[in-house]
Amino acid sequence: MAISDVGITFLGGLGEVGRNCTCIEIDGKLLLIDFGVMFPDVTMPGVDVILPDNVWLKERSADIVGLIVTHGHEDHLGGVTHLLREFEVPLYGSELTMGLAQHKVREARLESRTSFQVVADGDRLDIGPFDVEVLPITHSVPQSLCVVLHTDQGVIVHTGDFKLDSDPIDGRLTAMERLAEIQQDSGVRLLMADSTNADKPGWSSSESTIGETFKRLFPAWAGRRLIVSCFASHLHRVQQICDVAISQGRTIFPLGRSMVNNVRIAKELGVLDLPDRSVDSIDKLNEYDPEDVCIICTGSQGEANAALSLLARGNHPDFSLTSSDVVLLSSHPIPGNELPVYRVINRLTRMGCEVVHDGYEHVHTTGHAQREELHHLYRTVLPEWYVPIEGEHRMLRRNADVAIEAGHVEDRSIVASDGDQLILDDEGLRISGRIPAPYRYIDGLLDDLSPELLEDRRKLGEGGFVHVTVVLNLEDGLLGHPEISTLGWVDAERSVQVLAELEVQVAEAVASALDEQKDIASIERVIRRATGRFVGNRTRRRPPISATVILVD
Ligand SMILES: [Zn+2]
Repeated sequence: MAISDVGITFLGGLGEVGRNCTCIEIDGKLLLIDFGVMFPDVTMPGVDVILPDNVWLKERSADIVGLIVTHGHEDHLGGVTHLLREFEVPLYGSELTMGLAQHKVREARLESRTSFQVVADGDRLDIGPFDVEVLPITHSVPQSLCVVLHTDQGVIVHTGDFKLDSDPIDGRLTAMERLAEIQQDSGVRLLMADSTNADKPGWSSSESTIGETFKRLFPAWAGRRLIVSCFASHLHRVQQICDVAISQGRTIFPLGRSMVNNVRIAKELGVLDLPDRSVDSIDKLNEYDPEDVCIICTGSQGEANAALSLLARGNHPDFSLTSSDVVLLSSHPIPGNELPVYRVINRLTRMGCEVVHDGYEHVHTTGHAQREELHHLYRTVLPEWYVPIEGEHRMLRRNADVAIEAGHVEDRSIVASDGDQLILDDEGLRISGRIPAPYRYIDGLLDDLSPELLEDRRKLGEGGFVHVTVVLNLEDGLLGHPEISTLGWVDAERSVQVLAELEVQVAEAVASALDEQKDIASIERVIRRATGRFVGNRTRRRPPISATVILVD
């Protein structure tokens, strides 16, 4: 039988934190690892999420044999409904990951376009031509998987997101022994490893250390209502919060759509050990005394429409915070989210709440491996080739340095980017090509916003909008004054003088244009140009400008 080469195409996650997607190719078939979303920053007004590009996948749609989702975070799973709208793809993942995926897919009414294949730790399965082994790996969401591909070109290890937690809440340790065994049996040809924390020294602290902080802090808050915010997928954190709160005689109130859903799914699957008598729904809150309550809610990243932001603005439909409440953010801002998070903290503080966060208490730990953990993984796996994944370029570069520090041959680390295509064959690993992998912007029901449209939105946001209407007759010229309408450019009531000057400029431009130009499009162009010049000179702004010429006989 012919020896098959392995192709690897990165559609996302190499150059940003989010929209992770790696495509592995053997014998013309494609196996996707993760299909996540990325969340927009302030330069992307109105965008809900950003996805991996779909143009190349559409060309290859008949070749896709499956999607393995390494874990239940949105940046690995969140794009699945968008994927299924375009392609019919079976999904593979741990029980919890598939439970979370099934909920999303069912809500989007896309169940007929996929199947949910639950895999157990250590399973080895065939997906088309792929011989796949899934191993347990620790992270901040339970049941995360490391994907091991046994190929003609040797073993390929893809970590997904991971940290090396020596004391995980569920006792499910990373399969370091199995990785060492694979290394000894056959060696590892290629390791692709999480780069998120590659520039942080040392070893991350175990998730279980956070529970110790809760045990220390919670008794001091006896007699007061407690509101705790964390990622809804961070179910081991939820477990630890619930354990301490329940031991104080509190009842748990999940709040926020994803928290309510995830707690329900995790309870059903036995991932969350939470007695029914200790949980109630938020509409029963008034039946409890404040000291008997622990509300656990979404919004720890300052998301504008999440429960904690609504509470901080006093807009939550279910209840209002009071100055005797304690609010705990068991989280750390994702890079880029610092501003909205601190805005929420400031609002809560101004309300008089006691606000506790990871700036001064150990109420959060990362889910991503720091340098010593990456070193440890590297030394266990000892790959021939090393490709950092999952991170901005600075993180990928630092991750490549980890391997080099550990003795890796420098030119066997490849810092690749979104769109890069790699080939692993008898000669080794190399970048063999490149496909476009632009951000795919999704805005509500509008898919695929173009970069040009986003640029218009940015300009509107920065400078507002100016529209000029003139009525004219080709014989007599302008009839009446030009009419200027603006939105967000100047305050019309206080800028009468500016608008009057602009009217004069436009009238003069139209008059001189009419000496030479007789077609409407040319006159409109002249008006836009004259308006743009005036607006730029007077306000140093460049708002989009439009013009309408109404021709009358
Ligand atoms: Zn993750």
